Amino acid sequence: MGLSRSTPICVKCKVLMKCHKNAQFVRDPAIGAFPSTYWSGDVWKCPGCSCKVITGFGSKIVSENDPIDVLEFEWNFKGSNGNEGE
Ligand SMILES: [Zn+2]
Repeated sequence: MGLSRSTPICVKCKVLMKCHKNAQFVRDPAIGAFPSTYWSGDVWKCPGCSCKVITGFGSKIVSENDPIDVLEFEWNFKGSNGNEGE
């Protein structure tokens, strides 16, 4: 246990986040072509506020079939709040 290059710290709770799940696949939206490109990362969870982040992307796969449990994400946040300016 301790800090490593990719250990997230929750700014709000001021604690190290804990590894919640390995090998979480995300679909790379920058590569819209078929077959899709997926990255495998680790899900970290804050023991305080339970927020989660995915980091530590390692292996990349290109597959015609979705891996199990793929997280879709957008490059840009489309909400109305914009940048909080912190
Ligand atoms: Zn937290």
